[in-house]
Amino acid sequence: MIHLSSPIIGPEERDAVLRVMASGMLAQGPEVAAFEEEFSAHVDGRICVAVSAGTTGLHLGMLALGIGPGDEVIVPSFTFAATANAVRLCGAEPVFVDIERDHFNIDPAAVAAAITPRTVAVVPVHLYGHPADMTAIGALAARHGLLVVEDAAQAHLASWQGMPVGALGDVAMFSFYPTKNMTTGEGGMVVVRDEAVARRLRLLRNQGMEARYANEVVGFNARLTDLGGAIGRAQLRKVEGWTATRKANAKTLDSRLAGVVTPPVAEGASHVYHQYTVRSADRDGLLEHLRGAGIGAGVYYPTPVHRLPSFGLSLDLPETERAAREVLSLPVRPDLTDEELETIVTAVNSHG
Ligand SMILES: *Cc1c(COP(=O)(O)O)cnc(C)c1O
Repeated sequence: MIHLSSPIIGPEERDAVLRVMASGMLAQGPEVAAFEEEFSAHVDGRICVAVSAGTTGLHLGMLALGIGPGDEVIVPSFTFAATANAVRLCGAEPVFVDIERDHFNIDPAAVAAAITPRTVAVVPVHLYGHPADMTAIGALAARHGLLVVEDAAQAHLASWQGMPVGALGDVAMFSFYPTKNMTTGEGGMVVVRDEAVARRLRLLRNQGMEARYANEVVGFNARLTDLGGAIGRAQLRKVEGWTATRKANAKTLDSRLAGVVTPPVAEGASHVYHQYTVRSADRDGLLEHLRGAGIGAGVYYPTPVHRLPSFGLSLDLPETERAAREVLSLPVRPDLTDEELETIVTAVNSHG
């Protein structure tokens, strides 16, 4: 089976974990601090706060921005449920809008149409590693006084008009879950524009404490471990190379695949191909055909978030529904061999 994604762990990660084990400092400590510093270099020098998971990062990032009950936050429905869960966990209301036709990302026109006096924020998701249209989102946010929270869980090192994603909003979140473009086991990074917001976020991460046993607010335990931090530092040194290989693999697939719609890239976007996602009119047939050929293709996401039992809404979001019907992700991971790429191309192109 040519699997869709799995973490790439080498001797550097193993050595890093053993170094932390030997230090006796397993919880958040110097490795996490160094990881935050080093990650910051990839997001235009912004403040980085590591947390225990991406979802937690979105949740606490929104709390640190003051988002809460009575607030509406505009989100795409074509995403992973965590995007909307984080809004609801703040006590705010996710307002689901449609995506644009080409890149599976939130449609700025739909965002504009959904703004009410209660709207406080919008959450562009850089889905599959393709940046959302941050120029249009930024202009809307400025005009209506909205906060911008980037869900960059899938978009490490992606950029929009030359600027790294994560440095384009008020708060951004990157996930380090094992299937993402880099991992810490579980973990997330929150990128923050404003120092006062970063301070609130650090308090929320650590039981509301800055000075020990002088808790200022009611907080969480959302700390990343130093084991995770050390793994993350090793992964961060490799992610640029992995990203280049993902792009090269995508280019091969773009030029060779037939009978499916390959993923277009917007002008000024650097797509990091967390997923290489095609559209097919016969998606379920193609999926079955590929699985039969030993290819671990996957569907992200078969059900729009607003229709999941957890939200249970009935809305008219035609592009979202179309994407949920048509999308199929093919392996694009950086450790694919040329032979495996060839097998994928042959299998897709042999589907009748
Ligand atoms: C993975 C993911 C998350 C959640 O990240 P975790 O680290 O798994 O909590 C949120 N949003 C999107 C779009 C994701 O892909």
